[in-house]
Amino acid sequence: MDKSIEITDEVMEKINVHAVGELKAEDVYCFSVLLCDNEVDRDNEKFSVDSLKKLAELYIGRTGIFDHDPRGENQTARIYDTQVKEYTDRLTCDGEKYTALMGYAYMVRTEDNRSLIAEIDGGIKKEVSVSCAVERKICSVCGADVMKEPCMHMKGKRYGERLCFHVLESPADAYEWSFVAVPAQRNAGVAKKYACGGFGSSEGELMKKVESACGEMRKEIMRLSYFTKPFVSAEAMAERTKEMDFYELMALKKRLERQAAESEDFECRAMIYSEDADEKEGKDDGGFRMRQRTRRGK
Ligand SMILES: [Zn+2]
Repeated sequence: MDKSIEITDEVMEKINVHAVGELKAEDVYCFSVLLCDNEVDRDNEKFSVDSLKKLAELYIGRTGIFDHDPRGENQTARIYDTQVKEYTDRLTCDGEKYTALMGYAYMVRTEDNRSLIAEIDGGIKKEVSVSCAVERKICSVCGADVMKEPCMHMKGKRYGERLCFHVLESPADAYEWSFVAVPAQRNAGVAKKYACGGFGSSEGELMKKVESACGEMRKEIMRLSYFTKPFVSAEAMAERTKEMDFYELMALKKRLERQAAESEDFECRAMIYSEDADEKEGKDDGGFRMRQRTRRGK
């Protein structure tokens, strides 16, 4: 948050669009806040620059509240102007130019909010939380709109080099903004809440199912690779499948199945494998074990 802003005629013009009566420069206190940015936040989500531009329009006229402030209803501010600021000397963690949405707010000076203004001026009240509605959430790995159809990637997980996060697109509405104690966004000191129809906890449920399906497929791949890739160690195969998503695992499994079917001594090795599994006391954990391999039959 910057220090108070110089109140020019131009600023007063913008403020008076929202004011009930005609306000004068001495009636108001103005300050700026960083509303949100395009950095990946703690929820592994980020706004796109286009979203920030749309939010810049939507936030004009929106009321800001000072959370948990017992001092009453005079403790509100209103945004009279916004600006999308691009920083050329800073990149986001996914390599975009760091871009922030600044809000310029005013408060009508009263006896009641004198101390609050002093706090803002002194930089004490820093964190801002925004809430808005977005229409699309895009997976950074596969580009799927997870609000329409969830994909197999999990936010916060890495797939090879790529971190999975959701890009918040197409803001439909902006609600109030507020000062809060703990921000969600890592660097900016701002937080966001947003509404989205459709998925709530079911999204998490689905992800669990997908993870479990991936686990099963990894086991199956280990089995198949034993037959079709005898020279690839179990460790190497496990390492290879570790970062694969559902579709990649599916493709690999199909490929191995095809190779297994084409392989002439598949049956023979399958037999050895099952003998081995029988030898091992107790349950077959489905995992692949390194062992001496004897080729028979050919
Ligand atoms: Zn995805």
